Amino acid sequence: MFTPARKSMPAIDYVSIVRSVYNDRRAMVVGAFACVLCTCVTGYLTGSLIFYAIAAGFVISATFRYIDMTRFKNANIGQTDVDAAARWEVRATYHAAIFAFLASFWCFSSFVFVNSPFAELLSMSTTVACMVGIVTRNFGLDRLLTIQLAIAVTLIMVGLLLKNDGYHWFLAFTLFPILIAFRFLAADVRAILLSAVHGRVEASRLAEELDAALDTMQHGLCMLDENGIIALVNDRALATFAEFAPGEWEGKPFVEFIAAATSVGTLPRAAADELLRDNEQQTSSKVILQLTNDRHYEVTTSSRQSRTVLLFEDITERVKAAERITFMARYDALTGLPNRGYFTERVEADLKRWRQSKTKDMATLMIIDVDDFKHVNDTQGHLIGDRLLIESAERLKHALGEKSILARLGGDEFIVYRGAAETEEQVMNDAQTVLAAFRAPFDLFGEHLSVNVSVGIVSSSHHDDDLSMLMTKADLALYKSKSQGKAQSQMFHDDMDVEYRYRQRLKTELRETIANGGLTLAYQPVIDLKSRRVVGCEALARWHHPELGTIPPSVFIPIAEESGLISEISRWVLMTATAECQNWPDEVHVAVNISAKDLRSGDVAQMVGTALASSGLPPRRLEIEVTETAVIEEREAAGVIFKTLTAQGIGIALDDFGTGYSSLSYLQALPFTKLKIDRSFMMDIVNNPKSLKLLANVARLGKDIGLTVTGEGIETEEQLALVAAHTEIDQIQGYLFGVPLPRRDVFELIVRLSAAPSAVAEPKRKRG
Ligand code: C2E
Ligand code: CA
Ligand code: CA
Repeated sequence: MFTPARKSMPAIDYVSIVRSVYNDRRAMVVGAFACVLCTCVTGYLTGSLIFYAIAAGFVISATFRYIDMTRFKNANIGQTDVDAAARWEVRATYHAAIFAFLASFWCFSSFVFVNSPFAELLSMSTTVACMVGIVTRNFGLDRLLTIQLAIAVTLIMVGLLLKNDGYHWFLAFTLFPILIAFRFLAADVRAILLSAVHGRVEASRLAEELDAALDTMQHGLCMLDENGIIALVNDRALATFAEFAPGEWEGKPFVEFIAAATSVGTLPRAAADELLRDNEQQTSSKVILQLTNDRHYEVTTSSRQSRTVLLFEDITERVKAAERITFMARYDALTGLPNRGYFTERVEADLKRWRQSKTKDMATLMIIDVDDFKHVNDTQGHLIGDRLLIESAERLKHALGEKSILARLGGDEFIVYRGAAETEEQVMNDAQTVLAAFRAPFDLFGEHLSVNVSVGIVSSSHHDDDLSMLMTKADLALYKSKSQGKAQSQMFHDDMDVEYRYRQRLKTELRETIANGGLTLAYQPVIDLKSRRVVGCEALARWHHPELGTIPPSVFIPIAEESGLISEISRWVLMTATAECQNWPDEVHVAVNISAKDLRSGDVAQMVGTALASSGLPPRRLEIEVTETAVIEEREAAGVIFKTLTAQGIGIALDDFGTGYSSLSYLQALPFTKLKIDRSFMMDIVNNPKSLKLLANVARLGKDIGLTVTGEGIETEEQLALVAAHTEIDQIQGYLFGVPLPRRDVFELIVRLSAAPSAVAEPKRKRG
């Protein structure tokens, strides 16, 4: 029938409504006094004792009510103490019921027990007046009110009906709806109050939620009112504002804040202008602010109904991450220099400008290659190799300065671009500065290393030279400086282009020659120093070009290596030489040269196997020659291949010893059977005793580690005599005994020397 008041409203409101029932002791006393007075007057007027009894009832009930009100005051219940309030509500309900009973019984008595219109009027008017007061005071407590009204209405109606005349009956039926309406009246007042209370609670809940949202927001939020005053800010926005300009900004005009930030210097003027413009135009927009302290903010402005909301998002991390990604995509991780891609992008843009400008300025490109970097990496390890590259980059940066674009091209190659006008002389000076920068040895983790660079340069004023053209030319120049002995710079000139085209032609024609079986082999005898017998022959490839004449292997072998033709040559040489060797006496072996590229491609062992199988030559009669440079380039592959070959009894000779690093570490680590000392050791021995000593020492070194030692390039009797007398060399090879000869001639020579070992091949001093 009715919802208990404690359930229909928030605790705090329920408690305060219960409190209101107990609050006004004075009003209660005045009301009670009026009732007592009026009942006594009724009693006096009618002479009926019953009214004095009712008056006494009023006094007693008011006394108890007064005591209860005082106790309530003293109990001082908590603002939200719903349970206590409920107990006090029950007590108040009893008092209210008693009061309603006394008042309505007074009316009842006036109708039923006496016959006095004044008594009826007085009792009814007083009771109705009291009921109006009760309703206005107790509207919040529906139960209390309902009980009071039920008692009052029942007794008064019964009294009126018992009067038994038409007018009183009429009054009974009109009074009933009036009194009932009181309850609805109270319900309406209560509903209005409760909806106001609920509205207030909802508003404060929303306010709390908004507060929480604003405070936990990742972004700074600030709202400007229609006058541009900062009306609302959250903590984060305050912190952001403090970063821009110190001060209390809440309640101040936004423009004042921006002015302060620009004058302090934290906010660049351009960004400030943009922000203010967006603000004025009342548009929704985003502005990125870069503060002078390297922080970045994204400010989102949105305006509605002349209010503007600004969101400040700290995007420093996002911007930094984007910068890192761009950096990683553009720069080399090891040296921090621009990478090839970024270099290309920048230089192409500059070349475009250069072409459009049509000036006579020169564009300069320089390719710098660290000499023998692979050797450093192999012998010292990658850690030192990496450090060398990092420090090389540093030295280059320092030597070249700001006006160049320096990049790492990959591996041990660096590239430099100069767009500014410079004379060829100035460019050569720059190259000298680069070379000079590498003069001092490097100190890499305590290792002192002397490292040089080779430089290839192109300076061009041809506007149709694009980057790839310039790079090809600089590469040609670099190639030249490398082939001329490294540690130097070379300027590209057109002959190099001619040379380049010549090499390109040879490349194409070499491919055709190989395919048509146009290469031939020459064999150079290797002589045992003591017996002077031929112990072997080295197979050397020959290319007789129909137009260009004889092309030396020093030219076509590197071309074959570059263009991937070398393994075809090696396979063919192996097949041909092993087959030829089958014609020679059993004690004569054949030596075949293989290159670094063969080691890399990995099928040397298989090529050798096929050659031996098809020729039927015993493995011990085959020797493989490899240069030191090849071993350095392909150290790991060499180890595996050599092991397979030596296991079959095939000999492995380290060729041209002394021209590379002459590193003992290779000699020891790999299963060589022979050491071939380069002819550069032989050249000077006649005139220079020191050279002879050097040769003797190198030979001893080979002997000491159990290798057969061959001396290359013996051209004269004097050399032969010195070698025989002062060194431990076992075998000799050189023009003195025989130039590389065609197969028929070498066969004759082998036979002749076998028959008369001491004879020297005097008449054969023409090159094969
Ligand atoms: P190499 O292996 O050191 O071959 C010996 C070179 O020295 C040959 O030059 C030979 O003619 C030359 N020579 C021999 N005795 C003397 C001498 O007393 N005085 C002088 N001045 N030179 C002498 P060639 O045939 O021009 O070969 C040059 C290089 O080409 C060879 O050096 C070798 O590295 C390479 N080569 C030749 N044929 C082949 C081949 O079939 N395969 C591979 N991978 N390389 C080859
Ligand atoms: Ca050789
Ligand atoms: Ca050699």
